[in-house]
Amino acid sequence: MSTVLVIGAGGVSSVCVHKMAQARSGNAGIFTDIHLASRTKSKCDAIADSVKARTGQTVATYEIDAEEVPAMVNLIRKIQPSLVVNLALPYQDLPIMDACLEAGVNYLDTANYEPKDEAKFEYKWQWAYHDRFREKGLMALLGSGFDPGVTSVFTMWLKKHKLKTIRQLDILDCNGGDHGQHFATNFNPEINIREVTAPARHWENGQWVESPAMANKVGFDFDAVGPKNMYLMYHEELESLARFVPELERARFWMTFGDAYITHLTVLQNVGMTSIEPIRYKGQDIIPLQFLAAVLPKPETLGETTKGNTNIGVIATGEALDGSGEKTFYINNICSHEAAYEETGNQAVSYTTGVPAMIGSAMMVTGKWSGQGVFNMEELDPDPFMEMLNSDGLPWQVKELPGPVEF
Ligand code: NDP
Repeated sequence: MSTVLVIGAGGVSSVCVHKMAQARSGNAGIFTDIHLASRTKSKCDAIADSVKARTGQTVATYEIDAEEVPAMVNLIRKIQPSLVVNLALPYQDLPIMDACLEAGVNYLDTANYEPKDEAKFEYKWQWAYHDRFREKGLMALLGSGFDPGVTSVFTMWLKKHKLKTIRQLDILDCNGGDHGQHFATNFNPEINIREVTAPARHWENGQWVESPAMANKVGFDFDAVGPKNMYLMYHEELESLARFVPELERARFWMTFGDAYITHLTVLQNVGMTSIEPIRYKGQDIIPLQFLAAVLPKPETLGETTKGNTNIGVIATGEALDGSGEKTFYINNICSHEAAYEETGNQAVSYTTGVPAMIGSAMMVTGKWSGQGVFNMEELDPDPFMEMLNSDGLPWQVKELPGPVEF
């Protein structure tokens, strides 16, 4: 039914391409022709080999530098996909959007644009493409991963089916997995460390409230994981939620980290290894964080040893749709690292991002989600996406809590 071109060949891409190829709940009929291009072709070939072995489906592979817009345009024109799925790094978002505009094709990603020389992510750069996509009759869908992505869909599902308004929102991201390494990140180390070392920020009474990185800690007992410390952080869906759920009085994002992770990160930060300022070493400019990323275990190698579950969800408090007063609901997904690895050869952090990237792609190529311009997940009907989460590997549950969160 449709031809797709996926860019990037890391853990998230691997899961997404496996899921696109899987003959499950009719998906085989959705993504009939899958093309995969990245900077290192051998990584595309390894994914294609695994997909062939697991599903029998063929994936065509290419080498591309996604920052080279003319080369991207040529590749898109050659393949003629109905959708380009950007699973490379946030730095490539704008060049890939430029190439999509020039070649006349729809666009999807899982992380918002970040300039290389500034650890700052904001939707403003991508929202600025809205008119150009609209004028060309094209659609760009931003942030179709888990967080951002599913967390916004969960919120909008609660707003559609349970709550008339949402007063307070807390997003809880728990990775209860153990990879057996002293220190490693579960997705791209450079992007991950830039994110967690940035100041925390949450939305309160119509403005952003900033606090130092990792300064606010609370304990929470997660189903299928157990008690964990979680830390207040800034995360990109807070920006789109504050825009599309304007009645929000407070919106916060929390992520769990173990004590060993915090200790290692603190030391690395103290000695300057997380800096993105170039230093001169033996006649060469080196960015310490990029060097650190090269030294750390590659996230895609952690799958085999990672045990345990992730538990990511949203707690929302607001006025009930049925007029029964204020209510609080908790909606979440639990994903097993071992089961994700068994199915796709990747751990659950890649799995929980790659599956929603596949579902967002399915929404677009089937026309269940359509539009002209640049869209966030909050703007589209949550129901068909929520159905596919259940049928395609990320089942969710919702329960009512006795009252608003006490932290
Ligand atoms: P990886 O680092 O494992 O993979 C990134 C891939 O992009 C690599 O194959 C890399 O190539 C390729 N790449 C980098 N630069 C270029 C370029 N200029 N041209 C072409 N390809 C390039 O990352 P992940 O798979 O862990 O993450 C992928 C994306 O998903 C990231 O944007 C990340 O921020 C996002 N993400 C989103 C989440 C969510 O819930 N929304 C959660 C986790 C991740 P090479 O192999 O040569 O290095």
